[in-house]
Amino acid sequence: MTRWILKCTVCGEERELEAGFNLTLLGGKVYLYCRRCRANREHLVLGCAEPDDLCPTVGADVID
Ligand SMILES: [Zn+2]
Repeated sequence: MTRWILKCTVCGEERELEAGFNLTLLGGKVYLYCRRCRANREHLVLGCAEPDDLCPTVGADVID
């Protein structure tokens, strides 16, 4: 699992999400429920919240 930093494009709320795949492969945007908006909103993928050596790199589609 990798922790990612996401930001709601509507209200600006930042949150972390744990995912078992490389979110950057989704084009840098993902739809998630925003607690502040109380609705599904587009979130920008700001980056990985893990140390550099644990972060998947863009384009490196490695499957365990
Ligand atoms: Zn929001």
